[in-house]
Amino acid sequence: MSDEVAALDSALGNDDVSSEATDPALEGDVESQQEKLVQKHKNTGNALFAEQKWEQASKQFTLALKFAPPGDKEAAAVLLSNRSAALCSWSMQLRSRPAALSESRAIFAPDPTHLAQLALKDAERAAQLRPTWHKGYSRQGAALFLLERYGEAETAYLEGLMLAPGNATLTEGLNKVQAVLAEQQQARDTSDTAAGSDGRAGPKRQRRLAREADDTECILCMKLLCEPVTTPCGHTFCRSCFSRALDHSSKCPCCRTVLHVARELPVSITLKNLLLKAFPEDYAARLAEESSAAAAAAEGDGAAAAGSGGSGGGGGAGAATLPLFVMSTMLPGEKMALNIFEPRYRLMVRRCMEGSHLLGMAQVARDHSLDPIACEAAITECQQLPDGRYYLELTGRRRVVIDRSWEQDGYRVGSVKHLKDNPPEPGSQEAQELQSVAAE
Ligand SMILES: [Zn+2]
Ligand SMILES: [Zn+2]
Repeated sequence: MSDEVAALDSALGNDDVSSEATDPALEGDVESQQEKLVQKHKNTGNALFAEQKWEQASKQFTLALKFAPPGDKEAAAVLLSNRSAALCSWSMQLRSRPAALSESRAIFAPDPTHLAQLALKDAERAAQLRPTWHKGYSRQGAALFLLERYGEAETAYLEGLMLAPGNATLTEGLNKVQAVLAEQQQARDTSDTAAGSDGRAGPKRQRRLAREADDTECILCMKLLCEPVTTPCGHTFCRSCFSRALDHSSKCPCCRTVLHVARELPVSITLKNLLLKAFPEDYAARLAEESSAAAAAAEGDGAAAAGSGGSGGGGGAGAATLPLFVMSTMLPGEKMALNIFEPRYRLMVRRCMEGSHLLGMAQVARDHSLDPIACEAAITECQQLPDGRYYLELTGRRRVVIDRSWEQDGYRVGSVKHLKDNPPEPGSQEAQELQSVAAE
């Protein structure tokens, strides 16, 4: 660390906070006084921040941090996050300053890159103290962007979005960094093409074409990439292939990196456009293939069912297709919680949630055959846990009879008809008996 940098660090108060001794006899008073000081400096810092006085604001947050009780991680994380934001803004301000001004004051001005590094350090500490708070990641993303570490910035924003899906600041940051990444990729591609158009670079161009053929193929289905998604580790798959791989493991299917990503990665627009341009017909065919497969799985297409080994004909009048969870049946109106961890049922739940949210709760009889009476149930709550399991809450809707059933991608699907319940006449003996049973 240079002298100049060390001086800046101490000006910002990055020295050891715990070295200050306190008199134990006065601790109670000291504590409440310290609390007041923390609040005072924090408020002043926030006010200065609003006035865009970044340097003074960051100094106030430093003072607040100095008096913050060592055990209060939440408070420290907020202060660090605020200081990180102030340092980031200060860094941006210095960067956008006209050259003439920075030349005349060159000696006194801190280095914007160093400020961004300090902002990153604060953001990382904030995230350590409060790992489930999205702001730590949002600040990391902003600082990494300033440091031009775009890949890492993208990862930070994605991690934040896992904690706060749809957050506007995180989404904006992610879009900004992905735009830069796409621009860089495009610049690389054009420079490659330019080299290829050179008469002497014939072999290089051929190599490029061969490489392109590999890059446009999904390693999971060996077909042209369809709706490509790219993981933080940089590997690209068809969106549907990637979702199915995640049913089995939360690791990247290519490099085995553990992925802390949301199941629905955004489609890489730039790559998709390149594919559409290069292979318009193949891409359209792949899209049609994918969407018909998805529709068949979600709705239980009769023809597809017959094709995959169903013994009967197409679904008759009044028949519907339901995916079946074979465990135990339930009663209409009954509620049940389920933990889904088997890959085949994860796939089933995922498809259910893309479609009608309905499934059939079925059970096997003593002779191991499927009991024909089952219950149609609605998924009323569905939480995906970080390790890929699902927590479900179901409510039984109505009884169904399973006409026939077959296997689809490892789980059971049935063609079902609804059973009509005939409630007894009000006031009849049967109704009275039922009421007394229900009251017990
Ligand atoms: Zn694929
Ligand atoms: Zn990977």
